[in-house]
Amino acid sequence: MTTTPMTLTLEQLSAPPGDRATGLASVDLGTATVEIPIVLVNGARPGPRVGVTAGIHGAEYVSIAALRRVAMEIDPAEMTGSLVASLISNPAAFAARSIYVNPLDGRNLNRSFPGDPAGSPTERLAAWLWSRVIEPSDRFIDCHCGDMNEALLSFTGIEETGDPEVDRVARAMAEAYGLDFIVIGPTAGSTTTAAAAAGIPAVLGEVGGQGLWPEEDVALHAAGLRRALHAAGVLPDPGDGPRRASRVLPLEAWLRSDVTGCWHPAVSVGQEVTAGQVLGEVQDPFGATLRTVEAPLSGVVLFLVSSLAMNAGDPLLAIGA
Ligand SMILES: [Zn+2]
Repeated sequence: MTTTPMTLTLEQLSAPPGDRATGLASVDLGTATVEIPIVLVNGARPGPRVGVTAGIHGAEYVSIAALRRVAMEIDPAEMTGSLVASLISNPAAFAARSIYVNPLDGRNLNRSFPGDPAGSPTERLAAWLWSRVIEPSDRFIDCHCGDMNEALLSFTGIEETGDPEVDRVARAMAEAYGLDFIVIGPTAGSTTTAAAAAGIPAVLGEVGGQGLWPEEDVALHAAGLRRALHAAGVLPDPGDGPRRASRVLPLEAWLRSDVTGCWHPAVSVGQEVTAGQVLGEVQDPFGATLRTVEAPLSGVVLFLVSSLAMNAGDPLLAIGA
């Protein structure tokens, strides 16, 4: 455990103890320079440093709105330790309203960690976020939601590293979030998997999707994030009463399409399905069946792609069990 330095700095930003700093950090991605909005909150008392990112996927608006709210509303005088918040972590994807990928090179930022400072634009962006926001932190939280084309039930994601203290803190943050499910398992190249591999307790939070940011979803995510920051040791108990117990899902299956066509799901998000059940069809433009998609295991539909357009290689849905 490190303690917060007297003054918290990131690039040109500087927050003395008991204060907040905001500003844009310029990040050179080789073919372009992007500007990431950063909030530093330096608590009045030293303690853990927590890194939080939102907008790793540029069109995941609930997470972006919720992190901004929490980072700007925290009272530094009530804080023990510090928060480093990256509000829109993939600015080119945000500007382009891009699904999944960074338009600068067509890569998925959340499959690119810990990144490469001499690599492609997305690899450079991952390396900057890794070195400035994630790796210097004692705990890490990554705020997501369903993408512009995805509906989902709320869940947190953690993994089991085998380090009892890392796993204990990650599990405590996930339980404090109080969302519908806790999904356990790694995703190669993701923020949280890279953090966990480096011994940093990390949690993924997912609320909402489909390019919308209704107040009820933003409030749900913001409240969960505040409780997770309490579990991380930097905020007092928000005192919003007993939280829901999340259903723990140790297994997760992502189903992807191997053909391009039109996606006609036969199930809805949150639905319980049984192994072998037909989940939907990918059809050609005239309605002929290209693929029938069946459940590989029994469980609950965690997220579901809601766009008619389906590309070979894209996710269709995920089942947790
Ligand atoms: Zn995402």
